Amino acid sequence: MENFFAVMVLMAIVATFVCFIGFIVKWITKKPKRRWGLATLISFILIWLCGFLLYAVSCKGDFIEIARAEPTCTTPGEIKYKCEMCGEIKSEPIDALGHDIRIISRIEPTETLDGEIVRQCSRCGYEQVEKVEKLIVESTEPTPPPANSKGTEEETTSNPQQEPESTESEQVDTSVSYEEIYRAYKENELRADDSYKNNRYQITAKINGMSTGGLFNLTGGATLTMEIRIDNTIVFFYAEFEKEQEDALKTISVGDTITFEGECLSAGTWVDCELIQ
Ligand SMILES: [Zn+2]
Ligand SMILES: [Zn+2]
Repeated sequence: MENFFAVMVLMAIVATFVCFIGFIVKWITKKPKRRWGLATLISFILIWLCGFLLYAVSCKGDFIEIARAEPTCTTPGEIKYKCEMCGEIKSEPIDALGHDIRIISRIEPTETLDGEIVRQCSRCGYEQVEKVEKLIVESTEPTPPPANSKGTEEETTSNPQQEPESTESEQVDTSVSYEEIYRAYKENELRADDSYKNNRYQITAKINGMSTGGLFNLTGGATLTMEIRIDNTIVFFYAEFEKEQEDALKTISVGDTITFEGECLSAGTWVDCELIQ
């Protein structure tokens, strides 16, 4: 319909124009006399017809939504509408959503290491990493030597009788979650090693499998395959339990969710684990 009216209007405009030119030509070559009035009348009628057709062309149909592009964090979306009657298409923009920033990991600064706050957008994964300057200590007291598990290992080898005591006294940092460690290792293994390797942490996860053989278990005990859900990913890792944990291990089954303490070798490998519950 739209096209039909457009053609009509075009024809009317052309007709008016031709008529007008004809009138001018006649006016120049001959004296217009009474034809002047007729030509004006015809032009007038044609122009009026044009106006009517233009009005008819402006469709009054309803616009219905035919397509929609959802906006993302950074790009705007768009809704496309189509006129039910004439098929005219128009679009309307939707503003970009902006990032939904949340803190996903936070490493507190120490006196020797910078801290770090990692923020991530929950929708698109956009990440911001913010450095936190290391702590400035103004005290004149000598700083105590940092708790180093290598040191404890040397101690334990020199006094084998005290082994159970020293494992118990090893510090467990309960403020750090597995998720935090996992993300740090995913981001940068070397940096994560600095922060987490050889430290003990407490982890709660589900047992996916249990094996008592293999390379890890030459001295007895068991290796558990653990699973933990981080965002929409199921992350698997190994937790090696020593022989003295065998009795405790008999109380748990695959599928159970357990809490244990272990020494981190990487996000995927934990040794010297002890069952807590
Ligand atoms: Zn329309
Ligand atoms: Zn985003």
